[in-house]
Amino acid sequence: MKHRGILAVVSGFSGAGKGTLMKNLVNQYDNYALSISMTTRLPREGEEDGREYFFVSKETFEEKVGQGGLIEYACYCDNYYGTPKEYVENQLAMGRDVLLEIEIQGALKVREKFPEALLLFVMPPSAKELENRLTGRGTETPEVVSKRLRRAVSEAQGIENYDYIVINDDLEMCTQELHSIICTAHKSVGRNEEFIENMRQELNVLVKGEK
Ligand code: 5GP
Repeated sequence: MKHRGILAVVSGFSGAGKGTLMKNLVNQYDNYALSISMTTRLPREGEEDGREYFFVSKETFEEKVGQGGLIEYACYCDNYYGTPKEYVENQLAMGRDVLLEIEIQGALKVREKFPEALLLFVMPPSAKELENRLTGRGTETPEVVSKRLRRAVSEAQGIENYDYIVINDDLEMCTQELHSIICTAHKSVGRNEEFIENMRQELNVLVKGEK
């Protein structure tokens, strides 16, 4: 029996290490498909169109929204970010677990559309460590760092909407934790209704045959 994949939404403060975690999951296990978002933000050094993001103009982004081509979208620190629909739906139907690395407003919209989605929140071990990581990236101006820290303050208010938190202190351990949470989710009763129903029917047939 082919199961539908799990839609795993991963959020966390900017600088919590979500991007690296997503890459680790995709490289270390073969059940994951990483959704590539569309954004109006400019590429950072080293980023490639079609790899980290589809980098587009505001016009192209709005066009995609108008066509209903995004599962969700949100404005984050003055730029738009959105999840293309087609890829996600195809991969889920093929039974792959789809990873969406998106911020909190988008995550909540996904939950409305896909109540069965698994919402995971990645935390740094401490606020100070978050600041160090954001500064240490060296790709952001002090203004951007401070904007992202302020954004973290408001995002921290929404964590109760998530199913699990994972603390990214040791990257490898955190990758394994995320993977094991997703594996466990596959075993939930709600995701195995068809199997359970088949079992009930088979049991009934067996019991009737005993008479
Ligand atoms: P960054 O500019 O650092 O790559 O991303 C900024 C924020 O946008 C991150 O929190 C990231 O998770 C979020 N983000 C990336 N793609 C999407 C998306 O498709 N939808 C939403 N809602 N947020 C996204």
